Amino acid sequence: MTDSSAVLGQERAAVADSCRRLGAAGLLIGTAGNVSVRVEGLVAITATGAVLAELTPDQVTVVDLDGKLVDGTLEPTSELDLHLGVYRRYGTGAVVHTHAPMATALSCVLDELPCIHYQLLSVGGTVRVAPYATFGTPELAESVIAALDGRSAALMANHGALTHAQTLEKAVEHALLVEWACGVYQHAAALGPPRVLDEQQQLAVIEAAIARNYGTTHPVPPAQEGTP
Ligand SMILES: [Zn+2]
Repeated sequence: MTDSSAVLGQERAAVADSCRRLGAAGLLIGTAGNVSVRVEGLVAITATGAVLAELTPDQVTVVDLDGKLVDGTLEPTSELDLHLGVYRRYGTGAVVHTHAPMATALSCVLDELPCIHYQLLSVGGTVRVAPYATFGTPELAESVIAALDGRSAALMANHGALTHAQTLEKAVEHALLVEWACGVYQHAAALGPPRVLDEQQQLAVIEAAIARNYGTTHPVPPAQEGTP
């Protein structure tokens, strides 16, 4: 091992951990999907052809924002331009793309996943389905980047899902949330047309979340003197 092999060492390990986590949750199947994290002008991204649920840090390649190889022995994913495009457009910190079963199923039918549950507001509410284009093409990157406008998640027609966030942990959480919501939608739609949260209901959730600092733990306040 040379010194240069340590470029983004921690981030490569984090990408491998995330892939194994998403693989264990059933979102990454075989070699399908890709994950990356950005640190300033460098991106650690999964290699093409790697089995993601068993990914090791040496199967994560480092490139710059133009896609030029900086470190690593394996070619980056064929969706490299999609990841780089998301970083360039949204200045985000991590990107997760999966062919997760529930999200992919809905992407074959819907034009958008409506806001059927308030948790979807953490990715921006309604999740758009980006029109289909061949994998690895600039047309697909353009389509998905447009669908992400104002959102942290998009479905990709007849293909899968993509989420992004400032941190890798958050991008992974978004991917798990979207897959869960797609499953809920499918179960609900089998029973009847799912109700959708209207704009006012969505706004009330955002206000309540801000007021209560939703999504974080809160220590119980210390017992006041004299309180049993
Ligand atoms: Zn894909």
